[in-house]
Amino acid sequence: MMYPFGGMFLYFIFTILVFVALFVILRHFVLWYWKINSIETLLEEIRDTLQNGGKPSTKTMECPFCNKFTQIDSTFCSHCGKNISKDI
Ligand SMILES: [Zn+2]
Repeated sequence: MMYPFGGMFLYFIFTILVFVALFVILRHFVLWYWKINSIETLLEEIRDTLQNGGKPSTKTMECPFCNKFTQIDSTFCSHCGKNISKDI
């Protein structure tokens, strides 16, 4: 304990280095976690698409009149031409 300030300073530097290393490692794992999440979402989208006969489930809906898949944001069914807008 001849140089208490020097010892504290080294300890301080060491602590900062440990925190920086932890931050880099955690950042890597967080990024990896979000990548896995987006991959999972993409896979679910692909699965839903395949289950709906090759049409994206988020953008299509089943027409209540002819039971065929049509664009969800369109006012009229692209198959039977009936009004399928939701604001009626
Ligand atoms: Zn229809």
